Amino acid sequence: MAKTNRREFLKKGAALGASSLVFGCGSEKRGETPAVQTNQKFRWKAVTTWQPHFPVMGEGVDALARWIDEMSGGRLQIQVYGGGELVPALSTFDAVSQGTAEMGHGASYYWAGKVPAAQFFTAVPFGMNAQQMNAWLYSAGGLKLWEELYAPFNLVPIPAGNTGMQMGGWFNREINTADDLKGLKMRIPGLGANVIKLAGGAPILTPGGEIYTNLERGVIDATEWIGPYHDYLQGFYRIAKHYYYPGWHEPGPVLELTVNKAKWESLPSDLQMIVRAAAARSNVWMLSEFEAKNNIYLRKLVEEEKVDVRKFPDPVLQTLKSYSDQAIDELTSKDPSSKRVYESFDKFRNQVGGWAEISEKVYYSFGAM
Ligand code: CA
Repeated sequence: MAKTNRREFLKKGAALGASSLVFGCGSEKRGETPAVQTNQKFRWKAVTTWQPHFPVMGEGVDALARWIDEMSGGRLQIQVYGGGELVPALSTFDAVSQGTAEMGHGASYYWAGKVPAAQFFTAVPFGMNAQQMNAWLYSAGGLKLWEELYAPFNLVPIPAGNTGMQMGGWFNREINTADDLKGLKMRIPGLGANVIKLAGGAPILTPGGEIYTNLERGVIDATEWIGPYHDYLQGFYRIAKHYYYPGWHEPGPVLELTVNKAKWESLPSDLQMIVRAAAARSNVWMLSEFEAKNNIYLRKLVEEEKVDVRKFPDPVLQTLKSYSDQAIDELTSKDPSSKRVYESFDKFRNQVGGWAEISEKVYYSFGAM
């Protein structure tokens, strides 16, 4: 660094340091919020799309509330409501947007009917895995786009969970060719739903708590949910014949925390930082829970419950891949927000793809792990 540049750099650093002292520290966007630290107490409500205390996701939100309470010394206390306790499971977006609750937890693709571009922030079929999604959101502008997308709805989105790679789902019919997808009534959200529709199936969106009954009664022929650990807890092996992999539609879906924007702005900056820190911890915690337990439960499903676990035939996956491209083309050509978000997503995918090509892909292909 040239001497003058270095001097300028140091001067800027000093100026920043001084402003931190004046305004207090903690706010990621300096000046966004008055950083006056008060002892004002906040009592908030969080609504979720999950059943009350649902393993991993529900528990994770309970833990999030506990961590925030502890970190803030009781200044921000959050009462967590499961889906249906305060508002219906799939109404959390509206509830937080309107301020019925200050916070919500769920997945952004549930709001595809309202905000189509939101889907890209959960998962894209044949898209990026959990670590790549985090990299896009935290380090490559993805989160900023998400914030811009949600701002008109009076919402602040914060990543707060990930399931990791999912399974393809539970089917009561064999999928031997792409023709077997025709007429298939399947519970599947997000862009994966558009793909199933293009393949001639009938996608249905139901919250987690209603899937079992729908599958048992034949309202649906198939469902995707998460992976071995959670699917075991849901008991799908009792009512479905075949368990297919891979989860082509959800390679690393992000779970979201939403905060009512006006309420967010009313928080002192240190409490905002505490919420962000707790959400980041949730993000790691949920992903770790799934990663630690999926194989244990996969073995239980196979060895104890004799579940028929099968891979989708390659030609079926190829067909699903081409319908995925078509679904994204259709969406981005009619919705400018989707186009903008997908351009960022796709650019980043290409960027990390080159690295993955010579790092993890090669590593796994040689039987690592
Ligand atoms: Ca899923």
